[in-house]
Amino acid sequence: MLKWPSVAALEAGFGRAPLVDALRGVAGAIRDGALAANEASVVGAASADLHRRFAPSQKRVFNLTGTVLHTNLGRALIAEEAIAAAVDAMRHATTLEYKLVEGRRGERDRHIEGWLTELTGAEAVSAVNNNAAAVFLVLAALARGKDVIVSRGELVEIGGSFRIPDIMREAGCRLVEVGTTNRTHLADYERAIGADTALIMKVHCSNYAVKGFTKSVGIAELTGLARKKGIAVVEDLGSGTLADLRRYGLPYEPTAAASIKAGADIVTFSGDKLLGGPQAGFIAGRKDLVARISKHPMKRALRLDKIRLAAIEATLPLYADPERLREKLPTIRLLARPAEDIHTAGERLLPVITANLPSSVAVEIAPCHSQIGSGALPLDLMPSFAITFAVKRVRGSGAKLEALAAAFRVLPVPVIGRIADGRLWLDLRCLEAHDEPAFTAQLTALRA
Ligand SMILES: *Cc1c(COP(=O)(O)O)cnc(C)c1O
Repeated sequence: MLKWPSVAALEAGFGRAPLVDALRGVAGAIRDGALAANEASVVGAASADLHRRFAPSQKRVFNLTGTVLHTNLGRALIAEEAIAAAVDAMRHATTLEYKLVEGRRGERDRHIEGWLTELTGAEAVSAVNNNAAAVFLVLAALARGKDVIVSRGELVEIGGSFRIPDIMREAGCRLVEVGTTNRTHLADYERAIGADTALIMKVHCSNYAVKGFTKSVGIAELTGLARKKGIAVVEDLGSGTLADLRRYGLPYEPTAAASIKAGADIVTFSGDKLLGGPQAGFIAGRKDLVARISKHPMKRALRLDKIRLAAIEATLPLYADPERLREKLPTIRLLARPAEDIHTAGERLLPVITANLPSSVAVEIAPCHSQIGSGALPLDLMPSFAITFAVKRVRGSGAKLEALAAAFRVLPVPVIGRIADGRLWLDLRCLEAHDEPAFTAQLTALRA
């Protein structure tokens, strides 16, 4: 079989050993009478087997869920500048931990420290694998064996088992809860401070809101109290952002700079939420505290690689100019995309989509709301437009709708939407004009 030219050609793509393996399977099928013993059927079966085995498990998809920073779909899309920098770092040796002038070992975080201190107003920064790691490291380095005071209104669970009380325990800290679910006062914190208190911690209510009869204590008030008592205030901003989003017509999300300015000794935030970079966690704040954090043995276990550091270093300068940021950073570009632009895209796509579906499916453009996702501004929604699909009055149309959603998910580049109110919704916010050809080109596969 290996002598057949079309079969031998498969070796170039997959290698000799996998090809021989595949042909053993093919030979078995021929012996069993399940396959014809000719070149065309052998190459077809071997090729299908090899493609299946070598297909990547993590695939590119079209995120039309309406959640821009979708944790299950990989959160922020990276700026082209950052992609180029990451690829370059992958391909070559770099000055990751090397000082060129002195010819000596250097610190890897210094590559991003300049921009991050400028953009946050912090004295120093340390970068780790993600924000969960940042929170853990801060607690382990500054408060192991000590008390950490947190308001009962801020004992957050982020999806995927990140819970403040659990992280505290794992970091060896004692959680001291103060206040109530809806109201916590400065006096609650003050009463809880004792000889064993290391930190007051504030956690951003990322994925929920406490509304109605509520009270929480701001950073500025807390730091006033903490200074008097000689303890530090740490704020987990969650998403955090380096730009004032109101400039882009978006709701205000606390910036790292505002928190530092208000007096936080340390802030932590994610790299791949609103910041729009690769997965990372940043610790920014007072020089002496950051030095203790960076020297902790767990820092070595949680540190970033050169690829992500390169991507972050290329992302941060985009923040120097807010107008350029809107163009160049996909996260801001998608969040700030005007609804009219999304509607126009819908009008372009509607006929192409309709042409590939049976007439029993009603396809239309409908207004909807996108959300930021990843716990940023959970209650604020952005007006958008979706292509919606309804299966016309047939019994069991619920199952048919599921089947339609599944058909979109098995396209060569899977399309992920959401089902609500008896319709399948494809929110077009994250389908930019440059992606439309790839999207429409595969729609004929829906017919099958
Ligand atoms: C998202 C979030 C985290 C976890 O951040 P990752 O970067 O996903 O590890 C921690 N705290 C808050 C408040 C968050 O919103």
